[in-house]
Amino acid sequence: MKMKAAQVSKAGGDWELVERDIPEPGAGQVRVKVEACGICHSDMFVKEGGWPGIQYPRVPGHEIAGRIDAVGNGATSWEKGQRVGVGWHGGHCFVCDPCRRGDFTMCVNRKVTGIDFDGGYAEYMIARAESLALIPDDLPAEEAGPFMCAGVTVYNALRNSAARWGDVVAVHGIGGLGHLGVQYARQMGFHTVAVGRGKEKEALAKKLGAHRYIDSGAGNAAAELQKLGGARVILATAPNARAISEMVDGLGINGTLVVPAAPNEPLTVSMMPLINGRRSVAGWYSGSARDSQDTLEFSALSGVHPMIEKYSLGQVAEAYEQMHSGKARFRAVLTP
Ligand SMILES: [Zn+2]
Ligand SMILES: [Zn+2]
Repeated sequence: MKMKAAQVSKAGGDWELVERDIPEPGAGQVRVKVEACGICHSDMFVKEGGWPGIQYPRVPGHEIAGRIDAVGNGATSWEKGQRVGVGWHGGHCFVCDPCRRGDFTMCVNRKVTGIDFDGGYAEYMIARAESLALIPDDLPAEEAGPFMCAGVTVYNALRNSAARWGDVVAVHGIGGLGHLGVQYARQMGFHTVAVGRGKEKEALAKKLGAHRYIDSGAGNAAAELQKLGGARVILATAPNARAISEMVDGLGINGTLVVPAAPNEPLTVSMMPLINGRRSVAGWYSGSARDSQDTLEFSALSGVHPMIEKYSLGQVAEAYEQMHSGKARFRAVLTP
């Protein structure tokens, strides 16, 4: 039995649509029949290289939604036919120090789906049982996919922040992460401020739930946030180090600038505003499979939707280019 997959054979190589044997699940694994797989910026670690130790050929993809199709030995809590998602966190060892503390995403032996092993740009993929999230019945696969990385990352960053109901939370950048961040911030009960460049994103930001929109091209966005008392949290999703750095001045006392996706350049941040207002700059790392399932459940419950464009597996090159150039609105999703 054969399946189609989109693979890359070397760093910087072209997309190859290949036929492969359908893989069999080993102990503690399941086989997922892929119904949708979102394209994430991090897939460039496979396409362009740069991930330490990555081996080729590799099938990328870590925003997977599908159905369990076969169950390996020992994966006893899962059964054939269940709808599941597989995200960035592809598994953990259960025995290292962070695992012993229950902090599975910080596992020193953690595996990343579609980078350390083959991912979802294929008709089938193998996943470890501890990396599976159950998809609610009323959530379509093409929406569940993008929640498995973009969604859980911003949802988890916001719900683990110090912001409470009514606090000013700014989402900087209205793209793949930001358009979800605005929706989550609103649904979590925050005073939601979207910060984007240009007037044309205002209508969209408000439709997504922003109470206010600040056009960073028309003035000083940080000063506008200070007029609201300063932000408790700024979720920085624009891939621009300078623009992110400038947002620090928009933080209120004890405010945190949370950065869940790395810009290419380092941030330039003066320490005095941090010290004077006890402010901080922090990173955020994805989430566990249960965090992903919480994301799926919250999204279905509260009506959070990713904006997606669908592509067939054969259109992988076009879909990747749309995502990479920022033309996709806002998530390209492969539907094998
Ligand atoms: Zn991702
Ligand atoms: Zn571990």
